[in-house]
Amino acid sequence: MTSTVRTRIAPSPTGFLHLGTARTALFSWAYARHFGGEFILRIEDTDVARSSQEAVDQIVAAMRWLELEHDEGPFFQMQRIERYREVIAMMLAAGTAYHCYCSTEELDAMRESQRARGEKPRYDGRWRPEPGKLLPAVPQGVPPVVRFRNPEGGVVSWNDLVKGPISISNRELDDLVIARADGTPTYNFCVVVDDWDMRISHVIRGDDHVNNTPRQINILRALIGPEGALPIYGHVPMILGPDGDKLSKRHGAVSVTQYEDDGYLPEAMLNYLARLGWSHGDTELFSREQLIAWFDGHHLAKSPAQWDPAKLNWVNAHHLKQRSDGSLAELVAKQLARRGIEAVADEHLARLCALYKDRCATTVELADWIGMYYVDVHPSADELAAHVIDAVKPAVVSLRGRLAEVAWDKAAISAAIKATLAEHGLKMPQLAHAVRVLVCGRSQTPSLDAVLELFTREQVLWRLRSL
Ligand code: GLU
Repeated sequence: MTSTVRTRIAPSPTGFLHLGTARTALFSWAYARHFGGEFILRIEDTDVARSSQEAVDQIVAAMRWLELEHDEGPFFQMQRIERYREVIAMMLAAGTAYHCYCSTEELDAMRESQRARGEKPRYDGRWRPEPGKLLPAVPQGVPPVVRFRNPEGGVVSWNDLVKGPISISNRELDDLVIARADGTPTYNFCVVVDDWDMRISHVIRGDDHVNNTPRQINILRALIGPEGALPIYGHVPMILGPDGDKLSKRHGAVSVTQYEDDGYLPEAMLNYLARLGWSHGDTELFSREQLIAWFDGHHLAKSPAQWDPAKLNWVNAHHLKQRSDGSLAELVAKQLARRGIEAVADEHLARLCALYKDRCATTVELADWIGMYYVDVHPSADELAAHVIDAVKPAVVSLRGRLAEVAWDKAAISAAIKATLAEHGLKMPQLAHAVRVLVCGRSQTPSLDAVLELFTREQVLWRLRSL
């Protein structure tokens, strides 16, 4: 085992990249980056029926979006089948694995009688070779499974990076199947061979795998011997939904890509996900670089973290403000394009982003504001009735006359508004609300002169026409 830190993320391509997996990937990646190590992407695609290329593509795209760049891979388990076969042959030869010819009926009967005796169902070792033991006669035409010869006594112990010391008695573990009768290797076995071959130093994964770890350690021990170095295991608690149940579709989006579509920034997702189960004092807002600098495997929480959409919005709003207006313009142009609005990410769009970003949590919200500069608005009858009232209409008409003449900048527009207010003896909100409803389709906006300045004169005159 090398002393370099080598971590991995090993998603199964049976769907999109789930938030929980993204967080595990993030921890593994940050840990490798912190120690100047390597981060490996491995696709666990042995569940052929449920795996798809589309899911692989989505996982890779989501990782790329989060900028969790891998140094090696993606490796595909289905392309490593020969290697698994080779290791199985090695283990059979070394006596750390053996053939078992039990039929399904026999195994069912075994479990039944164990249950009847009040015992925990487990493989009873009837095909396990022992010195001096007479094995049953090999049945004709029955393809055997291969079982791992689990150590009989003692305990399997490891010091979990997250949970601390864990010990499991070998009496709890039976001889698990490592290759099925058709020769395909099983999940726990492939993981071990992969982690071994890929020289993984730290296995960071969800704590739904905690029960697999003693089995995997035993298999790895059989391969590397008593002196070989085991990886360090860290089992991260799951993410709970806002209601305390395991985070699922029921709680809204659970795919990383969906958050990209919904206007979240990758650096904000990274920041928010990192805080689900890890902390650096009480610092809530940090950059990718700070995360790498701080993420040293300490301060990982033992208890599950809870998904909090309001906090995610707050974190995103923070990172939105850190972005340059030019880069926001690019993202907003994409959001607008998804609505069928064609907008170029130019200087003008950047100025629009600057004007509205303080009141937005996501680029979707920014696009909600900015769309009115590109397509006509349709004020609701209620807004029109409430604000575009007879007492104000003549002032709107004279403001329109002034705006037709003035230089098109904020100061001149502001002067035109003030002159109109003085002429008609109105207060700012009366006129401003009416103009906003007509031009913007809503009565609340940032300062009217700043809002109007970013429309063209023609747009404003057109929207204030025919009163
Ligand atoms: N393929 C497993 C999963 O998606 C990961 C296994 C591991 O990290 O060891 O849950």
